[in-house]
Amino acid sequence: MARDYYEVLGVNRNATDIEIKKAYRILAMKYHPDKNPGDKEAAEKFREAAEAYEVLCDPDKRGQYDRYGRVLDDNGMGGFSGGTMFDDLLGDVFGEFFGSSGGRSRARRPSRGSSIELTREISFEESVFGTETELDVNKTENCPRCDGTGAEPGGLKTCDTCHGAGVFTQRQGFFSVQTTCPKCRGTGQMIKEHCTECSGSGRKKTLKKLKVKIPAGIDDGMAIRVSGEGNAGANGGPSGDLLLHIAVTPHKHFRRKKNDLYLDLPVTVFDAILGTEAEITLLDGTAEKVKIKPGTQVGERITLKGKGVPAVQGYGVGNLYVDLRIMMPTKLSKEQKEIFENLRGEADSDMFGKSNKSLWERMKEFFKN
Ligand SMILES: [Zn+2]
Ligand SMILES: [Zn+2]
Repeated sequence: MARDYYEVLGVNRNATDIEIKKAYRILAMKYHPDKNPGDKEAAEKFREAAEAYEVLCDPDKRGQYDRYGRVLDDNGMGGFSGGTMFDDLLGDVFGEFFGSSGGRSRARRPSRGSSIELTREISFEESVFGTETELDVNKTENCPRCDGTGAEPGGLKTCDTCHGAGVFTQRQGFFSVQTTCPKCRGTGQMIKEHCTECSGSGRKKTLKKLKVKIPAGIDDGMAIRVSGEGNAGANGGPSGDLLLHIAVTPHKHFRRKKNDLYLDLPVTVFDAILGTEAEITLLDGTAEKVKIKPGTQVGERITLKGKGVPAVQGYGVGNLYVDLRIMMPTKLSKEQKEIFENLRGEADSDMFGKSNKSLWERMKEFFKN
């Protein structure tokens, strides 16, 4: 077995994955065969670094190496097999070789388009019953004329650098490196004639009108994801998503908590004492009769089952809670005052219910002293 893998990469034994990757990248760039043509020592160091990285970047293999000094499923090459993670990393490294412009290395590979985020304000009623909204989405799409290739139809030719292969293969003993052709970015083809509609960018800014269904029961702060309606991906990658954030305008009377609605209903002290029937207007405009029973107490609540908000997932409906707010008269005429005085004189403990009797007794005692 060759040198210690940690020594090869110049990291200590408890180096993090990021430190290992960084150390490998530096070595791979330094000793890459393209930078050291014909240098056998550099090629060997490049191979060594790759072998060390292949083992140390894999938690399983690293664990085995730490314990036994070798990788158990060793195939005579120190466990080096050239996995996908390795290819990915090389892609990064070579991106830096060929494209000092940075973005080029990334542009080669298919990548997902970016998401578009929009916010729509809807009324309280719309959030409860659902609605449909039309959005104007400013997005990047693949140019319809060239389908994103940037070439005029029939305007492609075989890449003259890689002769259509898209990649170069370099062999160093058993170790071979495939690099993507920097000129055609791996496609094997080059543009002979740029698309007349997008001038070769393959992209087109469009304003798309999009109808989006907003489901019943949606709440303030929720978002709707419309997949594939974001910006177009690059190099054949999928489009991003559209994220529609929902802001709900508060209602004048109704409040919402989860799927339940809350409403304050003012009740005069006379109605609270004598009882009555009140009518409230629900969110859908229908009238609902509620019974205020005689002797209604402060803080009493009437529950209307199933008159709340439908769950946005589609199952179940919340309740409507009507909180009775008993209003006390603040201004009394002389005659009204007299009536109340008479009532007070007649008042006895039974009027306030048996449960309050002792309290009433205690209060009378208190005011006598
Ligand atoms: Zn085009
Ligand atoms: Zn090429």
